[in-house]
Amino acid sequence: MSAREVPFFPYPHVFRQHREEVEEALLSAAESGAYVLQEEVRRFERRLADYVGVDHAVGVGNATDGMELMMRAAGIGEGDEVLMPAHTFVASAEAAVWNGARPVFAEVGADHLLDPDDLEGRVTGATAAVMPTQLNGRVARMDEVRAFADEHGLLLLEDSAQGLGATYRGRMAGSFGRAGAFSFYPAKLLGALGDGGAVVTDDAGVAERVRLTRDHGRDPDTGEVRCWGRNSRLDNLQAAVLLVKLEHLDAEIERRRELAARYRRRLGGVDGLVLPPGPEDEGPHFDTYQNYEVEAEDRDALRAHLAERGVGTSLPWGGKAVHEHRALGLDASLPRTERVLRRSLLLPMNGSLSDGDVDYVCEQVAGFYGG
Ligand SMILES: *Cc1c(COP(=O)(O)O)cnc(C)c1O
Repeated sequence: MSAREVPFFPYPHVFRQHREEVEEALLSAAESGAYVLQEEVRRFERRLADYVGVDHAVGVGNATDGMELMMRAAGIGEGDEVLMPAHTFVASAEAAVWNGARPVFAEVGADHLLDPDDLEGRVTGATAAVMPTQLNGRVARMDEVRAFADEHGLLLLEDSAQGLGATYRGRMAGSFGRAGAFSFYPAKLLGALGDGGAVVTDDAGVAERVRLTRDHGRDPDTGEVRCWGRNSRLDNLQAAVLLVKLEHLDAEIERRRELAARYRRRLGGVDGLVLPPGPEDEGPHFDTYQNYEVEAEDRDALRAHLAERGVGTSLPWGGKAVHEHRALGLDASLPRTERVLRRSLLLPMNGSLSDGDVDYVCEQVAGFYGG
């Protein structure tokens, strides 16, 4: 197989993929002067809520702000503890910290998502919420997480930044608890040409409080300031782009599922690799493959081998679980999570890949293990 370059994620593709439609939407919003909280944001919020199957979606500046604002809107505050996995972006923990709350980490299971069986022993009198991360386009075992939350009277929230379109027993990521947050960072499945995010909820009170706080506490109808807020609005031009791309989201997911099946057919039997479940053996899950995260023996050597052969890869979160960032002063010992982070590698997974690209990546990976 002749050599080729397969970048980990080609950012220009975010614009190129639906270029004509995106250009038209951008120009139309730009020419009409619709820059901040205009029709495009409202229409996108409506479409997103319908897609996820919830009553309300509120566009915000990014998912990190979304999580912080949804926690605050749901009543998380000073002294509360929020249970979450440590195999997540530092953003999940930040959202708690900026509310005066403390992130408390639990282990991940074999699927790399929050392990519902590791929550019980971590509950204290201050535990107020549990927030799984719907990692890599897969939903955690939400029946069990929900039962745990109910049993302990905890709020259930979701970091669904990576979860848009993923389901568990037919239910969409973001719709399981009091609220969930999505990210439209360019490398996300629904990627904007910059930052963007949304909070989804069935709770009218939470939706209203997030709607107020994202725009300085101002009442959208009267302009009266009703509470302390900030500026974290979803940009109107980004909403115009997202409206276009949301129409193509299911096709993007289908394509990624084909690519995941292709990876699995070729690499499923390779010793030294552990692959994520393939689309055919997900059980109650429907995965979107936001990322394709494998566990690899000799991970760093494999990574170097691939780089020499033109294949870009990435380490989740730069290779560290949240509690491993020393400057943050979080003390936790999570041996299973730490082992996963030493072994995890993200292979290229996005809608720009051809079948031939994936075959090439597979050949190089298999070649490394002599398979
Ligand atoms: C991308 C991501 C975020 C942050 O999203 P932003 O929109 O960049 O703030 C939070 N959590 C997870 C799991 C993510 O992947």
